[in-house]
Amino acid sequence: MDGPPGGRRAAGAFGGHPARSGRLTPMTTAKTTGPATFTDADGRHHRAEATVDLAALRANLAALRERTGGPAVMAVVKADAYGHGALPCALAALEAGASWLGTATPEEALALRAAGIGPDRARILCWLWTPGGPWEQALRAGVDISVGGRWALDELLAAVRTSGVPARVHLKADTGLGRGGCQPHDWPGLVAAARRAEAEGLLTVAGVWSHFAAADEPGHPSIQLQLDGFAAALAQAEAAGLRPEVRHLANSPATLLLPQSHYDLVRPGLAMYGLSPVPEVGGPADFGLRPVMSLTARLALVKEVPGGHGVSYGHHYTTPGSTTLGLVPLGYADGIPRHASNTGPVQIGGKWRTVAGRVAMDQFVVDLGGDAPAVGDEVLLFGSGERGEPTAEDWARACGTISYEIVTRIGARVPRRYVGTAQG
Ligand SMILES: *Cc1c(COP(=O)(O)O)cnc(C)c1O
Repeated sequence: MDGPPGGRRAAGAFGGHPARSGRLTPMTTAKTTGPATFTDADGRHHRAEATVDLAALRANLAALRERTGGPAVMAVVKADAYGHGALPCALAALEAGASWLGTATPEEALALRAAGIGPDRARILCWLWTPGGPWEQALRAGVDISVGGRWALDELLAAVRTSGVPARVHLKADTGLGRGGCQPHDWPGLVAAARRAEAEGLLTVAGVWSHFAAADEPGHPSIQLQLDGFAAALAQAEAAGLRPEVRHLANSPATLLLPQSHYDLVRPGLAMYGLSPVPEVGGPADFGLRPVMSLTARLALVKEVPGGHGVSYGHHYTTPGSTTLGLVPLGYADGIPRHASNTGPVQIGGKWRTVAGRVAMDQFVVDLGGDAPAVGDEVLLFGSGERGEPTAEDWARACGTISYEIVTRIGARVPRRYVGTAQG
């Protein structure tokens, strides 16, 4: 430091002390840690980046396959692979033995096909349809289509007739989630209509499936009810003459905790990205998983401030005494939750610090407690925890949400850097 912090000034007062304003300049020379090495292969410096470890993703998938034994694996890569990047993650998952990919929207499925993942490389199931499809593009791209209601079957069959391309359909039963899928009282009608279309050569019922409401809460009464409901829906489908190639029900928590739900195929998302879907039961390491995404930034400013200084919009943090503040160039536009205000954890120079005051659109501040790391030094927001840094689960807990939301919302403005790309 180049002088004592101006703790005797009125908080935040520039006026009347022009001679001292120099103390509020960035402390570019006060280096207490090693040189920042935060550059990419081209030597470019980044404001921030999300590192995605594809070797960890492959290892996670292998661990899930080992744990489950027999069933096929559908790698769920919806929402840009939970923020990790759909294409690289899909390719890594296929390398590690997944044979299916799962997406929510048709656009996500079509983008994977357009990027070169052909029907010979992977089956892709897409489950979030709205009127208009696009059914024909999906048929021509060889995408498996979830059907959870009669309107969807009717639109799909019209597209099959127009295009001349038969469909591969997965009938979705609502066994209790109360979200998508067909209610039990409509199920026999949907099954019969699908069977008729199958007999006409318009489609194949490739799958019967459902989704859990509370597989992440071991012992929740809905779990057994859904297992029973699924068995009943399957029995009705089979009694109607359907012979689905894959029957599937298990998301990540069910993949980890409910072997009786595995059937022919499991659909892990979060666990493949190395995060625990059941943090109350165990962390990633307890399931042989390692977090795939790390989020880092570079300090954009380090400065001394007096005690009693308000920090960020609304002054929801006031410095308890003279101290140093660090500016982190990430904000809610980058997916840093505004709920992290005064609570989100980061690691700088080996020490945990907390977001001071409100997270703004593009930046937030941390109280460095008098330390003076260099501008450009690395800020670890979350990672695997192996360097002692916070994890996405720590952020989730701090913000009252789940780790799914933390990683998925990391914005497009944050470049992704892929490591572990070469298959070992
Ligand atoms: C998102 C999703 C999954 C994966 O859920 P995770 O808990 O992340 O494993 C599986 N199936 C469906 C239908 C989904 O929407």
